[in-house]
Amino acid sequence: MVMSYPEIAKAPGRVPPNLADYEALRRGWSWDAVRAELELPGGLVNQANECIDRHARRAPDRLAMIWEGSDGRVERLTFEELRRLTNRFANVLRELGIARGDRVFFFADRIPELYVGVFGALKAGAIAAPLFSAFGPEPVAERVRRADGVLMVTTPRLLAKIEAIRADLPSLQHVMVIDRERGATGAHLDYMRLMDGAADEAAIEPTGAEDWSLMHFTSGTTGLPKGAAHVHGAVVGHYATGKYVLDLHPDDVYWCTADPGWVTGTSYGMFAPWSNGVTQLIYEGGFGAGKWFELIERHRVSVWYTAPTAIRMLMKAGARIPQQHDLSSLRYTMSVGEPLNPEGVVWGQEAFGLPFHDNWWQTETGAIMIANYPSVPIRPGSMGKPLPGIEAAIIDDEFRAIDEPMREGQLALRPGWPSMFRTYWKDEERYASRFKGGWYLTGDRAKRDADGYYWFVGRDDDVINTAGHLVGPFEVESVLIEHPAVAEAGVIGKPDAVAMEIVKAFVSLKDGFAPTEELRRELVGHARQRLGPGVAPREIDFLPTLPKTRSGKIMRRLLKARELGLPEGDTSTLED
Ligand code: ATP
Ligand code: MG
Repeated sequence: MVMSYPEIAKAPGRVPPNLADYEALRRGWSWDAVRAELELPGGLVNQANECIDRHARRAPDRLAMIWEGSDGRVERLTFEELRRLTNRFANVLRELGIARGDRVFFFADRIPELYVGVFGALKAGAIAAPLFSAFGPEPVAERVRRADGVLMVTTPRLLAKIEAIRADLPSLQHVMVIDRERGATGAHLDYMRLMDGAADEAAIEPTGAEDWSLMHFTSGTTGLPKGAAHVHGAVVGHYATGKYVLDLHPDDVYWCTADPGWVTGTSYGMFAPWSNGVTQLIYEGGFGAGKWFELIERHRVSVWYTAPTAIRMLMKAGARIPQQHDLSSLRYTMSVGEPLNPEGVVWGQEAFGLPFHDNWWQTETGAIMIANYPSVPIRPGSMGKPLPGIEAAIIDDEFRAIDEPMREGQLALRPGWPSMFRTYWKDEERYASRFKGGWYLTGDRAKRDADGYYWFVGRDDDVINTAGHLVGPFEVESVLIEHPAVAEAGVIGKPDAVAMEIVKAFVSLKDGFAPTEELRRELVGHARQRLGPGVAPREIDFLPTLPKTRSGKIMRRLLKARELGLPEGDTSTLED
């Protein structure tokens, strides 16, 4: 069912993967060898230089960005154009007195200026912090306050939200407005006018590998978002994973659907493709099944990186839609953000001939850590194997590695990889608590099989203890969404006097199915048959949709709080 490497390699027009032999690359891995493929002038590293300037020098006319606006307008930028624009923005920042290490926030839709802004800030040595444009004023204020943001770059549409909180943000010295429609108006600190007046050349701040570059707040799936801070040297990890996991080749057109308000939208919507010198599509608008396939067709996208929630929505919309488009440019597809249900992997294969390759990482890890690769056969439901160069383990409660296959424990990583976060901003204690026994503790539970594939079980907080069984929500959710009526499922443990917890599921249905008592019984029956009565949900509720973060993750803690009538906790990242 699922295509493995030899079949893919034989298919016409397919390029040989960069990672041809997983075991060999793993044995011979050296981060220094990866560094040697980058520029790193005099041992210095600035992400903007590695992603933009070095390509502008070698291939100035190469397309860096194909941008499509929500209204269908298309704009293109070469690496050389991007080099000059980011230089200009670095000059603008310096003129404003923004200094090395200052926090510069970006609160904008996915417009070209957002990308120019982030890289310009990196060139000036500032710390760039992009936020989801859909945030309300409070989550923005929270984050700016926590990081003592100095400058906010935004757009006219979003300005009112900033004006509403500005008085409460003493650190915020400047608010800059990008007005694409009207151009330079001078009404505010005006991006267009300042850029017009800035010089094309700028010296890049001589940052080293350990200098701050980016701040990202975690998704808030399990609690209050944490401000993970990253360094310029992370680009070594972005480049390596872009090459070996995204399998980027010079002629690719790559599309990452994530917003830069989420780490996937920077690590893989900025740094990985551009450090590899690859053209990327950026689409300003949001999800639309027909629209997305139309974009792949129009821009000849070859490598596509998306998320399980989007894949489930595509599945819900049906396989007829991709069949109405010419998707022959696509050669490789991936998913991240949540466990990818086996149904999702297989659906890609059925709908357009390519399975989705799942991979795992976190805001904190900065780059992909565990992945499926084009040359390694997929086991649907598994997140794959550690990146060569990454040591992963399943550890027990005493932080000892568990060697026995398929024994569940916490997923841990050996610290020291280049893209690792270097702190939670103003929360050193929490940062330190994530390192124990020589490991970085991920807070996720997983198993490893005898062949080295990792299988996600659930978040530490989400694992259910029912009558002595430990049940991972993912396993139950995956079985539920195998049923033709189910679009999404979220599973929680509900306190119970006898069993300690019972398994309770919330499901949303595909179009054309009604939430009847009969269907509920059918779903319970289906789950019992597949999972056994000990693990199958005892209760199933129907919901029109499940609560999700803006990065598309099911918020099980919210399902639980609502079920138990408890306070909802931080909901700043909740999607509307
Ligand atoms: P918070 O830390 O604020 O609760 P979060 O953990 O969801 O939010 P992110 O850093 O965006 O914030 O997400 C990382 C987490 O997402 C991982 O720890 C894991 O639980 C989940 N995840 C990401 N990719 C996968 C995957 N391929 N399979 C399973 N889980 C995944
Ligand atoms: Mg997390």
